[in-house]
Amino acid sequence: MKIINPATEDVLADVELADLAETERAVERAREAFPAWRDVAPGDRARLLRRFADLVDRHADELAGLELANAGHTIGNARWEAGNVRDVLHFYAGAPERNHGRQIPVAGGVDITFAEPLGVVGVIVPWNFPMVIMMWGTAPALAAGNTVIVKPAEWTPLTALRLAELALEAGLPEGVLQVLPGAGEVAGAGLVDHPGVRKIVFTGSTEVGKLIAARAAQNVKRVTLELGGKSANIVFADSDLAQAAATAPGAVFDNSGQDCCARSRILVQREVHDEFLDRLGRAVGGLKVGDPADPGTDLGPLISAEHLERVTSFVTGTPRFQGSCPPGRGYWFPPTVLTHDSLDDRAFTEEIFGPVVSVVPFTDEAEAIQIANNTKYGLSGSIWTRDVGRALRVARAVEAGNLSVNSHSSVRYWTPFGGYKESGLGRELGPDALAAFTETKNVFIAH
Ligand code: NAD
Repeated sequence: MKIINPATEDVLADVELADLAETERAVERAREAFPAWRDVAPGDRARLLRRFADLVDRHADELAGLELANAGHTIGNARWEAGNVRDVLHFYAGAPERNHGRQIPVAGGVDITFAEPLGVVGVIVPWNFPMVIMMWGTAPALAAGNTVIVKPAEWTPLTALRLAELALEAGLPEGVLQVLPGAGEVAGAGLVDHPGVRKIVFTGSTEVGKLIAARAAQNVKRVTLELGGKSANIVFADSDLAQAAATAPGAVFDNSGQDCCARSRILVQREVHDEFLDRLGRAVGGLKVGDPADPGTDLGPLISAEHLERVTSFVTGTPRFQGSCPPGRGYWFPPTVLTHDSLDDRAFTEEIFGPVVSVVPFTDEAEAIQIANNTKYGLSGSIWTRDVGRALRVARAVEAGNLSVNSHSSVRYWTPFGGYKESGLGRELGPDALAAFTETKNVFIAH
């Protein structure tokens, strides 16, 4: 497959896609590598992961440059992402020696539990944050003693392939971490169907996530699903409106809106709605869309011509505000603000995954919660208010896995991340992620 730079439409690389036979061979290699990796002393496994993290750090500029070229990420974002990959590896490098079982009191003997690795784990990755999402699944899986096969998105395999090389250089044994570029329906589905793969971590669309859950159920395969979102940014009249309006564009337009946590529905209390819109319009007018290598750029391109067409299809009427974007080659779309006569508009209900945001008014707390929850999704959200009681009430009432008050923070590698409702199943990151990559075995010894 020709791998394209979305900012220039130049061909970056030619990557061979794995067929089903190659997918099966990768599973065999991962199965063969598993027993020895499982039995590596915890301290040695930790050391290998730290060495891998250090190599990522040493190659941070190279990895950031690859992500910039392949996924169109701005240089600031891409550098942050390389740092996140390093940090996630370091965080889970601390886990092998702490992967404790328990001793449970019983009569007539001793009862102990073991947290055992599952075996082969398949990590299926989307194109929007290729290297970080790969590592959120991979690092804890490896730390727990599993072997891993990563299936990158068709459009964005380059950082994953480079990370696999760095893993070998760090000393991870052959077969412990493999990267298998391939089509979702071939290599991805091949991993999901293979009985030798014990767990799938899937990040991607809700539509494909449902398919995967159904197929994985055929052999009761464990799944973690990180799916779509349509998150609400709720702005109350008592908030710091200047701050709420200044930060709202970044909360939805970061990575050109190709972010599962994008706050793509801004709900604003009626009495400040017009003032908020004015401020938002000015903030959006100041955004720079263009060359992702320029440190002054706010938004890079969309990932592909196909995705550009999809995003464009959501903007049918006249937008309330629209920024500008470069002419010519590249998959550009300007930051766009919509208002709606009806909350049934497709642009208000469906995940667009582009730089398009909706602004709608609400009257009171109850209505804000009702609108925020009137969606099949439940990934993230923000609440802007100076009233602590209200912040907590609303945060408890919104059905979403990750909420922030007076901020738009979503993902920290040391706190749990994941979705309610059709935004996902299970949690990644944080202190408990290892549980998703282990089975609990209970052993009773009579005395
Ligand atoms: P996608 O569902 O089209 O593809 C995701 C991955 O699944 C790709 O690697 C693809 O090749 C593979 N795939 C496709 N069909 C498959 C099949 N039948 N069997 C196995 N694998 C298959 O998603 P995308 O367009 O790459 O990514 C965008 C979506 O991802 C958005 O909906 C976004 O919200 C979601 N996302 C969610 C999170 C999260 O953490 N919740 C993070 C990032 C992106």
